[in-house]
Amino acid sequence: MSRIYDTVVIGGGPAGYTAALYAARARLSVLVLERMAAGGQMTLTGEIENYPGIASIDGFTLGMQMQERAEHFGAVTEYTEVTAVDLAADPKRIDTWSGEFYGKTVIIATGADPRRLGLAEEEDLVGRGVHYCAHCDGRFYKDKTVLLVGGGNSAAADALYLSRVVRKVILVHRRDTLRATKIYHEPLMQAENVEFCWNSRVAQILSDKTVTGAILENTQTGEQTEVACDGVFISIGRQPATAFLQGQVALDDAGYIVAGETTETNVPGVFAAGDVRTKSLRQVVTAAADGAVAADMAEKYL
Ligand SMILES: Cc1cc2nc3c(=O)[nH]c(=O)nc-3n(C[C@H](O)[C@H](O)[C@H](O)COP(=O)(O)OP(=O)(O)OC[C@H]3O[C@@H](n4cnc5c(N)ncnc54)[C@H](O)[C@@H]3O)c2cc1C
Repeated sequence: MSRIYDTVVIGGGPAGYTAALYAARARLSVLVLERMAAGGQMTLTGEIENYPGIASIDGFTLGMQMQERAEHFGAVTEYTEVTAVDLAADPKRIDTWSGEFYGKTVIIATGADPRRLGLAEEEDLVGRGVHYCAHCDGRFYKDKTVLLVGGGNSAAADALYLSRVVRKVILVHRRDTLRATKIYHEPLMQAENVEFCWNSRVAQILSDKTVTGAILENTQTGEQTEVACDGVFISIGRQPATAFLQGQVALDDAGYIVAGETTETNVPGVFAAGDVRTKSLRQVVTAAADGAVAADMAEKYL
């Protein structure tokens, strides 16, 4: 059997490394299991301006610094993917591509990736005109025109937010009406700088180093039109990274771990921190806050 840790943290984003920092400073033995690189989704953004006390920092650097601080106090990182867990076992078992690990407590901090449109050029343009977070990046488009893709509650809320910070918003939705709750409809229809492209999908994002426009395809007729814009905000939902947790811990219909502000799940000794849990605002600062709470709860549990 590999070494048994007081706490195994699954995921090395801001929630995971804050949990690791707090747990390690509390003198718990801590293992962080991360499948890619420290920082999680933050590594996709070149500029974070809303982390308290820091004027501006790129996400990759902030992620490295979070990891460094946690490891300074004794946390250990293993780069591997978690494929399955047995959370009812004692100690709890975590299966990875590098073998089994055991934790007296487990903090799940695997995040929730924004859904992509799936266009070939999309990944290359992330941070250069393609964005998944209106609250994070909207203000970079102050006097500019942006497309907002989506029609659910998050998309409607993002469109409203953008309408206050950019010159013009073009909302692109594949149906002829929003799926969002009625509360969003009126303010959106009344906003003078929001234009609607119904029954439309983005067929291609156009760029010349940064985004210059998009080709929209009518979902009814197939007709294509080109629109000029400076940025494309994609708000078509998120995919929580919880596939390996099926049957182990309570998930909601969308796949998020059901956990409140204490980060406690329905399984004793198992905590969920950051974007992966049910919550209203998914940001670096709220993920970090969850990490601190989860470590504290784990310590109390032990
Ligand atoms: C493009 C972009 C820009 C953003 N800009 C900002 C911003 O300016 N300000 C702001 O506050 N927020 C911003 N956000 C949101 C912010 O990055 C997230 O809210 C935050 O990173 C969530 O942290 P987390 O630790 O909960 O999850 P994540 O950051 O998603 O980290 C989860 C980690 O878990 C790992 N993982 C997942 N599954 C497994 C597995 N099975 N085994 C091992 N490891 C696993 C992943 O590789 C990842 O590293 C942005 C997000 C994006 C996508």
